[in-house]
Amino acid sequence: MKKIGLTGGIGSGKSTVAKLLREKGAPVIDADQIAREIVEPGQPALAELAEAFGEDILDADGRLIRPALAAKAFASDEARALLNSITHPRIEARTAELFAKAEAEGHPFAVWDMPLLVDNGHDKKMDFVVVVDVDKETRVERLVKFRGLDEQDARRRIAAQVPDEVRLAAADFVVDNNGNLPELVPQVDKLWEILCDL
Ligand code: ADP
Repeated sequence: MKKIGLTGGIGSGKSTVAKLLREKGAPVIDADQIAREIVEPGQPALAELAEAFGEDILDADGRLIRPALAAKAFASDEARALLNSITHPRIEARTAELFAKAEAEGHPFAVWDMPLLVDNGHDKKMDFVVVVDVDKETRVERLVKFRGLDEQDARRRIAAQVPDEVRLAAADFVVDNNGNLPELVPQVDKLWEILCDL
């Protein structure tokens, strides 16, 4: 089974492309969803985080208070490394499990929807990399209009990611999402054909 990495800068329309691929029947593994799942109440990673960073990262119901964890975990390189040492192995195990499930189900390929695919060097482990590309200014506009971010926050988040040209250099296929949503559909149709022929 081929592993397909799907990525794009924040606000590029990566989730929209993932949804279209899912509608066509592709198994899509959602990296953001996995990162949330492994810190749900009852998951071992959450107990370890509370032990490492203090019980005050949990609310009265035992749920993670993300800003409280972020404040502590991003305070130093050591704290960040500790956070990663707790969460990364769980995220990797769950991702591998979902790829194995797709393979056992007989799918010829599975798509990993991963915002930081290139930033973290995971693109090299993929058989094929899809990058959704949009001008920075359009992404800022969409993040403000549809996601309710304020403009400075949108720009800060974009700047924190790998530069577009680095991401594009890793692409086997580029989806150009500068146009409107109907213009996206035929590109995903074409991508689908390519993926089916891999
Ligand atoms: P990402 O997952 O890359 O951060 P999303 O798929 O969530 O981006 O897209 C960001 C926002 O822009 C969403 O609200 C989405 O509906 C909207 N969007 C995506 N593609 C287009 C497009 N071609 N035209 C207008 N809005 C779009």
